[in-house]
Amino acid sequence: MKRNRIVIVGGGVAGVSAALLLGKLGKEVMLIERQPTLVAGPPFCHLHAGGNLYREIDDAQCLSLLRQSIDFARLYPFAIDRRPTVIAVPTEDSGKPTELLRRLELLRETYARMVAEDPGCGVLGEPEEYYHLFDRGEIETLARSEAVERPRNAREWMIPLARHLDLKRVQYPLILVQEYGINLFRLAAGAGLALEAMPNVTILRETKVTGVQKRSQGFAVQCTGVFGGETEADYLINAAGFRTGEIDDMLGVRERRMVEFKAAYTSHWAGRESLWPEVIFHGERGTPRGMGQFTPYPGGYVQLHGMTQEITLYSDGLVGSGGESSQPKLPEHFMEKIEKGWSAEERDERTRRAITHLARFLPDFARTTVGGPPLFGAQQIPGEDPTLRVAEVAFPLPGYARCEIVKVSSVTDMAREILRDLDRGGSAQMRNEAALWQIPQLEDVKEEELSERARRIAAGRGYPEAMGDRCVDR
Ligand SMILES: Cc1cc2nc3c(=O)[nH]c(=O)nc-3n(C[C@H](O)[C@H](O)[C@H](O)COP(=O)(O)OP(=O)(O)OC[C@H]3O[C@@H](n4cnc5c(N)ncnc54)[C@H](O)[C@@H]3O)c2cc1C
Repeated sequence: MKRNRIVIVGGGVAGVSAALLLGKLGKEVMLIERQPTLVAGPPFCHLHAGGNLYREIDDAQCLSLLRQSIDFARLYPFAIDRRPTVIAVPTEDSGKPTELLRRLELLRETYARMVAEDPGCGVLGEPEEYYHLFDRGEIETLARSEAVERPRNAREWMIPLARHLDLKRVQYPLILVQEYGINLFRLAAGAGLALEAMPNVTILRETKVTGVQKRSQGFAVQCTGVFGGETEADYLINAAGFRTGEIDDMLGVRERRMVEFKAAYTSHWAGRESLWPEVIFHGERGTPRGMGQFTPYPGGYVQLHGMTQEITLYSDGLVGSGGESSQPKLPEHFMEKIEKGWSAEERDERTRRAITHLARFLPDFARTTVGGPPLFGAQQIPGEDPTLRVAEVAFPLPGYARCEIVKVSSVTDMAREILRDLDRGGSAQMRNEAALWQIPQLEDVKEEELSERARRIAAGRGYPEAMGDRCVDR
């Protein structure tokens, strides 16, 4: 029986980020993942560097998202697509774009202060460029301009949208904000390569944790799959994503939480010119006019969200825990999708609806076709507030950390808290925050190897290889 000081259950973005930090600090880590590849859980495409997609959350959550997103972009620069996001409020919506301005200004001022204190925080560009407003006259002028191959400023980024937007369907000003994209395939590739370069980190893929018991010293962990057997842990990290409650149940820990199944769709817009920004059309969540999200990838692929029950959300997709179990139970048809995939009919039907949802604002987009499988999954939300967007980690037993992130940018705060718990209040390494996140194995990843692996991961999961590429390579 081998003794592993730290065992991490789950190789999603939470588990790999904890493994990278602890591995870099020389700890002995075993990362156990039931899937064949790392970071294979629910998708992510948007770095919420300010939380501007969510009108309903408070300033404190937006500021946390800004700070955490900056940390995330510094840790995983190779996964960040440095293209801005345009926020449009539809004419049919009861909100006004001007209602968003106070918070944008608060975010801009906060970002400026952060950059003044530590220039390394300036990963979102110049603070005065954090957001730009475009009135209707400017958009009309840009609609008559030629798109440029490599946009260098806010106006040039806006051209492709101005050329395709039905100008009467949105209110003015339009807002362009430096909230970037994240390429999950590149993150999976880069984090995997870095972890493989750490001799003190063992990665067990295709291995499922089936049992955990608390012992007088540490934990016993049973597994099936490629590694079938028992191992011991001095410290256990539960990063099992929406299955976090299963590990809690094994340990007899009771906790309230929710799980939500959601899906985004892959479309292909043949002939789409140049680089696009990401585009958000605000709308009331859960209604037929729910938010529409247009996320460009290379090769003309576009990922689509529509926050309606017919597209991204499902009427039975949000469930809570109850009774004797800490694990919320999703209806069987969701578990079938997660474990076996989608029927072609449902994929096509929901993708078509997503295309129609976005084509209300971008009429040419109606000609778009289905481009690949949906990007989907179940995500955990601790507690009982489904609008929560910032959550990280809890320590329900000595030596037991349970990660429950809602947005991927929370992983640096999460890993830092785990380190603090492990080292009982903080180690010397923690006092130098900047050095803490310098992970040589991540910095040493070669672009060629990374991009080759990212394309292979995308293709291996059934997506077009081009989705493993970054839109903006700078
Ligand atoms: C449609 C959709 C869109 C999203 N878009 C964004 C976005 O744009 N930006 C953003 O920040 N967030 C987004 N999210 C949320 C984001 O996907 C999640 O917050 C994040 O992926 C959670 O990461 P995780 O590591 O906690 O969990 P996961 O990625 O689920 O990782 C958990 C891992 O644990 C493994 N596992 C579970 N049980 C066991 C076991 N018993 N043994 C071994 N392994 C086990 C699983 O296989 C899995 O790989 C989105 C979510 C959805 C559903």
